[in-house]
Amino acid sequence: MGKNYDVWVAGAGYAGAVSARALAEKGKKVLVLERRDHIGGNAYDCLDEHGVLIHKYGPHIFHTNNRAVFDFLSRFTEWRRYQHRVIANVPRDNPEVVPAHKKTDGRFFFPVPFNLDSLKNAFGEREGGRLGEKLLAAYPAQSQVTILELRQNSDPEIAAIADYVYEHVFVHYTMKQWGQKPEEIDPATTARVPVRLSRDDRYFQDAYQGMPLEGYTKMFQRMLDHPNIEVLLNTDVRQYLSLEEYDIFLRGAGMPLPVPLIYTGPLDEFFGLCYGRLPYRTLDFVFETWQDRDYSAPGMPYPDPDHPLRGGGFYQTHGTVNYTVDRDYTRITEFKHLTGQDLPGVTTIVKEYSRAYTGAEGETPYYAIINPENNALYAKYKAEADKKQQLHLLGRLAEYKYYNMDAIAARALELAERL
Ligand code: FAD
Ligand code: UDP
Repeated sequence: MGKNYDVWVAGAGYAGAVSARALAEKGKKVLVLERRDHIGGNAYDCLDEHGVLIHKYGPHIFHTNNRAVFDFLSRFTEWRRYQHRVIANVPRDNPEVVPAHKKTDGRFFFPVPFNLDSLKNAFGEREGGRLGEKLLAAYPAQSQVTILELRQNSDPEIAAIADYVYEHVFVHYTMKQWGQKPEEIDPATTARVPVRLSRDDRYFQDAYQGMPLEGYTKMFQRMLDHPNIEVLLNTDVRQYLSLEEYDIFLRGAGMPLPVPLIYTGPLDEFFGLCYGRLPYRTLDFVFETWQDRDYSAPGMPYPDPDHPLRGGGFYQTHGTVNYTVDRDYTRITEFKHLTGQDLPGVTTIVKEYSRAYTGAEGETPYYAIINPENNALYAKYKAEADKKQQLHLLGRLAEYKYYNMDAIAARALELAERL
């Protein structure tokens, strides 16, 4: 089998599909092996039984500042203009300062990333406004500041803001997501969601943002539809390979794999966990569909007492609502906001519950847990990988990094160029 292709690619997510396409266009014959029964990796979307377009592995919103990546992907999809906005839903703990229109059944809401308007939601119009001025004066040359940075500030009023944001945005959410406090995890992780020194309430500020008009899976189908690409689903690349110290052999063929292999799966698995498991967090996604009478008919009891929007065909006002203080789940996403799907009588939401990945059947490793100890373990596997000249590691799993979709696409284009 190895002889008929110029490159093997294991995985048909962003890493695999983008590199396969870029290589195919350079005249290489590419074999893509995907162990799931579908393409798209974790960005895969499909219709649920109610006809709602959902993201099976969690909500994905495309955003990038990389023009080359945006142009490349735009060859395979048109875009729905969409800017993601997120609010926090928290129990009201200081009722006297919450403006009346923000009060709902003992809860209140503010934009995330926490911004100058969030300050007003939290501390009231006047006091929040005054504190906002103070923040702006403290960081005159910055448009945002990380929570860890803000907590270093010794000014008592700014320290009080930092405490508030830490308590109401970061500490409980991060404990749920990572089982650790913000100061215990990689600082780059909480820095993804800064404190904004402006009123910009968009979750991302990138130049190019949107959703593939017909969904991610359609985009991947077009990307992989090329005469030089063959895709085998339900196929784990490891079944064809046996590993020698300095080589990768074709199992049963008595010869080395004669072509480069781009591997986009977990690196520890590739080596049979020989140094032990790389730690990951996994998520349980709980999907709920709400139909017509359940949620939007006038006068009907609302399914979620915390819900800010009563009626209107949507479960919640925003694409994502983060439960930053209480609840066992971290966030609820309602897909119709993201996709723009026009389905008046029905809506599907997903709740995300995070826990440690154990490697049990059916679990997916979603987030590498980046810290010096785990990086050192990864380095041992990487040293094994480096001995095998056919092997190229690419992607969020294979590189054990916290990459967004655009970063992976950029790396895939680079690798294809090098090969
Ligand atoms: P994957 O998508 O994981 O693809 C790897 C593929 O390889 C999988 O299909 C797997 O089945 C296959 N595979 C593994 N091992 C083997 C093997 N041995 N043989 C054959 N096939 C194999 N990014 C954003 O930019 N915006 C977002 O809004 C966003 N939201 C996210 C939400 C969640 C909950 C998560 C977990 C991630 C999110 N991301 C987001 C990140 C995004 O999912 C990743 O950047 C992207 O999917 C990485 O692509 P990849 O190809 O590296 O990995
Ligand atoms: N975070 C938080 N509260 C929030 C949003 C994010 O504490 O309301 C922290 C948390 O540690 C999270 C990290 O910031 O893991 C990155 O958030 P992001 O939304 O980028 O995570 P992802 O979408 O990748 O799960």
